[in-house]
Amino acid sequence: MTPADEAEARAAMTAALQAGHALLAQGKPAVDAVAAAIAELEDSPQFNAGKGAVFNHEGKNELDASIMDGASGKAGAIAGVHRVRNPIQLARAVMDHSQHVMMVGDGAEDFAREQGIKLVDPSYFRTEKRWQQLQKALQEDRLGQAHSDLTTAKHFGTVGALALDNRGDLAAGTSTGGMTDKRYGRVGDSPIIGSGTYANAQCAVSGTGWGEFYIRAVAAYDICARMKYNGQSLKRAAETVIDRQIPKAGGDGGAIGLGADGAVAFPFNTEGMYRGWIGPDGVAHVAIYKDDPLPMPAGQ
Ligand code: ASP
Repeated sequence: MTPADEAEARAAMTAALQAGHALLAQGKPAVDAVAAAIAELEDSPQFNAGKGAVFNHEGKNELDASIMDGASGKAGAIAGVHRVRNPIQLARAVMDHSQHVMMVGDGAEDFAREQGIKLVDPSYFRTEKRWQQLQKALQEDRLGQAHSDLTTAKHFGTVGALALDNRGDLAAGTSTGGMTDKRYGRVGDSPIIGSGTYANAQCAVSGTGWGEFYIRAVAAYDICARMKYNGQSLKRAAETVIDRQIPKAGGDGGAIGLGADGAVAFPFNTEGMYRGWIGPDGVAHVAIYKDDPLPMPAGQ
């Protein structure tokens, strides 16, 4: 990353945290804060979500997102859309204004139109950096080198947010362009409730990483289930799934976790992970690389 990209990514994360915090400070529910924070990150070209999403094999941006309200257990998800400016808003509309949990492709875009959700020309999502990443991946495909050294670069920059509101309710959301050079309508873990996103009364999780492994591990749900059924702490449950189970299966990535008691966890087994948090004092803390100092909330 260039210093300018890094500064822009840190500024966007700070703005996302502040957007969520502002709503929570007004007494709004956790789902509102999650949706607002993610929309902020989708609008930034720095992340693999909304504008700046990675390209698929055909040179298109194909977007996935999901959201879950831990208090009600309701959830909404969309996959494979090309025109929805803020995919998290559409996932939210599926949760709030339909009888379904997941919609894909053209049908999801028809629903977006009905809901008055902003649609854009597909060229809106394009950035030169992502285009060059696709060219590199296509070249490696041709040389038969794909799927080993490149896999880490293929999944990076998915965005997620978690919130705990003043009623003690949790919510989680995730938004992504998926993996560079994906084909055949491939969908990763991010829009799959239980794999990339999960929230209940006790725990909220959003994952980022090599999606196929997160789907097989039902990663986000497994973290919360370890807390519920085994009595594990959030930190232990999250580290077990992200740093042990997923690498053991051959995958990699990270996750963010938040407990109803305010516990936070940011496990990852990659070189870095965009991450941050904001508490009631409204001071945002963000980090990118493994050795970036990220102060933890008091007592953690
Ligand atoms: N997990 C996402 C996917 O596999 C990619 C990512 O996290 O960057 O679609």
